[in-house]
Amino acid sequence: MNNTGSILFCVQCGTPVRQEEKFGRLRPVCPACGWIYFTDPKVAVAVVVLEGDRVLLTRRMNPPFQGYWSLPAGFMDAGEDPQAAARRECLEETGLEIQIIRFLKVITGREHEHGADLILVYEGKAHGGILQAGDDADQAGFFSLNSLPPLAFSSTQSMIDTAINRNPGYK
Ligand SMILES: [Zn+2]
Repeated sequence: MNNTGSILFCVQCGTPVRQEEKFGRLRPVCPACGWIYFTDPKVAVAVVVLEGDRVLLTRRMNPPFQGYWSLPAGFMDAGEDPQAAARRECLEETGLEIQIIRFLKVITGREHEHGADLILVYEGKAHGGILQAGDDADQAGFFSLNSLPPLAFSSTQSMIDTAINRNPGYK
């Protein structure tokens, strides 16, 4: 991969690829074996965990937006069930075991170069585990909906708002 997220060599035979127009856009094409590289969208999952009037957030350990807060979230593995991915990411980043309550929404469009093209957002409820930051989060905790810490992404507030709107008790 190069810094534009594309590839330089054919993954089938190792020949340097060329940019050619294929199926409506420029794509890396192997001049030796004809292999075409199709960029797949990156898919992530995120989970909104409400508890009383608080929401579970994690602090980002790495750039971009290091030190800013976001929902437990991460990329799906190929073949992984999205709800299982949401439970896994929450456990890895916060130590909490959750059950998925409902699907909330899809967020599209990358907020940064290494972000996801598509984020599947779930609402979850904590039912076990011990709150402790891990993986790429250096802090994790519940924050009052009225005084959230600085958020990394503009989509985070909209995900939280969607969850609140689905819970009549919060209105
Ligand atoms: Zn090739």
